[in-house]
Amino acid sequence: MRNIDLKNYIGGAWVSSDIQEYCEVQNPATGQAITRVPLSSFEQTDQAVAAAKAAFPQWSATPVSRRSEFLFKLVERLRHNSNELARLISEENGKSLPDSQAEVKRALENAEVACGMPVLLQGDKLIAGAVGIDGEVLRLPLGVFGMIAPFNFPLMVPFWFIPYALATGNTYVVKPSEQAPCSMQRVAEMIDDCGFPAGVFNLVNGDRVAAERLLEHPDVQGISFVGTSQVCRTVAVRSAETNKRFQALGSAKNHLVVMPDAKMDSVIQNMISSCYGCAGQRCMASSAIVCVGDEVCRDVTGAFLEASQKVLVASPLDPAVADESMLMGPVISAKAKRFISGMIQAGVDEGATLALDGRDFEVKGCQGGHFIGPTVFTGVKPGMKIHQTEIFGPVVVIIQVATLDEAIQIINDHQYGNGASIYTQNGHHAREFKLRTRVGMVGVNVGIPAPVASLPFGGMKASIYADVKAQGKEVVHFFTEARVVTERYWPES
Ligand code: NAD
Repeated sequence: MRNIDLKNYIGGAWVSSDIQEYCEVQNPATGQAITRVPLSSFEQTDQAVAAAKAAFPQWSATPVSRRSEFLFKLVERLRHNSNELARLISEENGKSLPDSQAEVKRALENAEVACGMPVLLQGDKLIAGAVGIDGEVLRLPLGVFGMIAPFNFPLMVPFWFIPYALATGNTYVVKPSEQAPCSMQRVAEMIDDCGFPAGVFNLVNGDRVAAERLLEHPDVQGISFVGTSQVCRTVAVRSAETNKRFQALGSAKNHLVVMPDAKMDSVIQNMISSCYGCAGQRCMASSAIVCVGDEVCRDVTGAFLEASQKVLVASPLDPAVADESMLMGPVISAKAKRFISGMIQAGVDEGATLALDGRDFEVKGCQGGHFIGPTVFTGVKPGMKIHQTEIFGPVVVIIQVATLDEAIQIINDHQYGNGASIYTQNGHHAREFKLRTRVGMVGVNVGIPAPVASLPFGGMKASIYADVKAQGKEVVHFFTEARVVTERYWPES
């Protein structure tokens, strides 16, 4: 365990928590403590919001190209330190090093896109909307914004918002996940090195106490939340009560539909990395395979089970295997492991066939780690608990249907609508799937249809509580007021 507890970054200074309450941050592969994270108080959150509020007038008046210069510096630092950041993510979260490297890369890409704010921030003008009258839409920053982050992408997810908020001229307070706060702490050090004016960016560690204060604070103009749908709902209600903007991206159950004409040899490996990458703890991880037809179901089940048994389950920082692209690490905590094991038992109890059981999985040398091996249920019926619930672990259900229409119906009837993919070589089937599936992100022969940084990221139904997604141009609208000016000038007489 490092002997230094994590700190908060408020008004350009590192400050210790005002209360002596800490939570241990564990390496999920070993169960050993890495460091301690302060559970900051309501008052300390207020200090961060006050610092951000004080910094807003000058920062918002700074030319956008100058604001982008700070981000260019940050991009450079992120790139230079990307290996160190990836190791920190693997240590605190348990995902493989290649997955952590991909996470850093996507965070960096978002910062790069936000560097283009001099173009993204441009408004609109309508000449002669009425006789002699012009209309103009200005995109203006609003003030202090806040972000509440999940454990599963502790660095990338905050970067769906932070660079855009800063580049548009707002100031910021982020609350990292208390389960994986180390990589954001390191990024805050880099932000500090870049010389952003004091108070423009602030970090407050903590749990729901600090988060709830951000939600109710009258000086916070808007909240970006990513986490479970249950908390999304709270965020939506609290934000509405205090008249804040909000975007809240929630839970998921993503389906992969396999058609009879799919290119089967490529499909299986693609599904394996979609279902087991990050131990099934990606919001875009697939956890339900829908096979169209008997033959497809027989072939996919056999090949998927065989490939699942070959997945390498290990500590992500074990030097012997750390570079393996399909390495599956542990789940985040003992609590998560208990929940996932309970869901596996629920599947057995409700009559699904447990074709591969990942409970009691042991990784040599990692006795305290929270490992679960690949787990597969067959004979699953839509509506079973293991199909309805986001299990957020390496547990896959296989469902058989007769037609593409039936597959689409299952996806559309599900409470969540984050992502879904179809495997087919048939353009008509792909088109039907794209147009009729009620999810926010669709893949065609892509198991994880996570859009690149310049495109919007977000789902539908209970997977999102808001009408504005993350990343790219879309989030610029969230961080700016579209002030509309209607003007005319009378001729001098
Ligand atoms: P979580 O909801 O448990 O916690 C997320 C954050 O909310 C944490 O910072 C936590 O401290 C805070 N929090 C907890 N209770 C709160 C409350 N009552 N009020 C305000 N804040 C509160 O989520 P998690 O377990 O950290 O993350 C995993 C979840 O995130 C999964 O459901 C996953 O699907 C989802 N996720 C979704 C997306 C997406 O794009 N839709 C992306 C990543 C993760």
